[in-house]
Amino acid sequence: MIRVGINGYGTIGKRVADAVRDQPDMGVVGVAKTRPNYEAEQAVERGYDLYAAIEDRAHRFADAGLETAGLVDELVAQSDVVVDATPSGIGAKNCELYEEYDTPAIYQGGEDADVADVSFNARSNYDDAVGADHVRVVSCNTTGLSRLVAPLREAYGVEKVRTTLVRRGGDPGQSDRGPINDILPDPVTIPSHHGPDVQTIFPDLDIDTLGMKVPATLMHMHSVNVTLEAEPDADEVRDLLAEQSRITVVDADLGIEGTGQLKEWALDRGRPRGDLWENCLWGDSVTTDGRDFYCFQAIHQESDVVPENVDAVRAITDAADAAESVATTNDALGI
Ligand code: NAD
Repeated sequence: MIRVGINGYGTIGKRVADAVRDQPDMGVVGVAKTRPNYEAEQAVERGYDLYAAIEDRAHRFADAGLETAGLVDELVAQSDVVVDATPSGIGAKNCELYEEYDTPAIYQGGEDADVADVSFNARSNYDDAVGADHVRVVSCNTTGLSRLVAPLREAYGVEKVRTTLVRRGGDPGQSDRGPINDILPDPVTIPSHHGPDVQTIFPDLDIDTLGMKVPATLMHMHSVNVTLEAEPDADEVRDLLAEQSRITVVDADLGIEGTGQLKEWALDRGRPRGDLWENCLWGDSVTTDGRDFYCFQAIHQESDVVPENVDAVRAITDAADAAESVATTNDALGI
């Protein structure tokens, strides 16, 4: 059993903890939090040992009636791998702690790429992370784009990718984020940081990305144009994408018109927290014109990186090859 510690138990950390718990070959040593909020209460409710991330504030857990198992250092010491799911920028500061205990660590996409030896997407470059000490699972948008680009590159070759990312203003719980009633170029400069981030996975990829932010919380939407090196017809590309285990090609018969209905579909299917771990790509949007391919895909920012974190645990511990790990993760989660 691979013993996994989770440092940072928020939107991503709580989902990764449950996904790790559900795997046949790994278990959760415990989760570290800074303060005893509703997520800490739920961690205890779910049977995870709770560790205090900040020594000076450890007493707050006891004050709130939540028992802790120790400080984060003890969690790191006991873990074979730590998944750091702290807010952007904190992961880099935690690096020293993981090195002190010689515990390999997995960081999230909010960290700069240079925090880790490897930026990771299971479909695209699993092998690069095998045996590494520090791995960064790329952001939700970069994960979604990498999953799409990988099969297109393999099947047809890619000359250039152009993508506009219509981004949710904040996650559903982030009541301090916006815009509330606006449409922002975000960032206004081009390319947005997403293109260079995809190049941490595919260094030689020619990609331009433009970002916008809108008053929505449910998902991101990508409008994608890829100039291929071949001229496949749309049906062939749709079939290729439908074969990918972490892309759901949404059939027109389902009558799903947008992200609201996608999320409703996830809830109706009994998905935990209404999560959509896969890219959701509208089948009807798959269009080719000569070498140009177009589509719309929606990305559930809170959950698409979750299976990637699980695979990164197996890669970093050299516990399975890519195909085996992805199959095990998918099977355990119900992807
Ligand atoms: P979050 O704010 O929901 O959760 C972070 C958790 O870490 C909180 O529980 C917070 O209390 C805790 N924390 C803060 N400081 C800490 C410390 N020093 N030690 C331990 N825990 C600490 O954040 P999130 O949305 O889960 O994001 C985590 C990382 O994942 C970021 O790098 C982010 O960019 C990335 N990410 C987020 C999303 C998303 O849409 N939410 C998607 C993909 C990647």
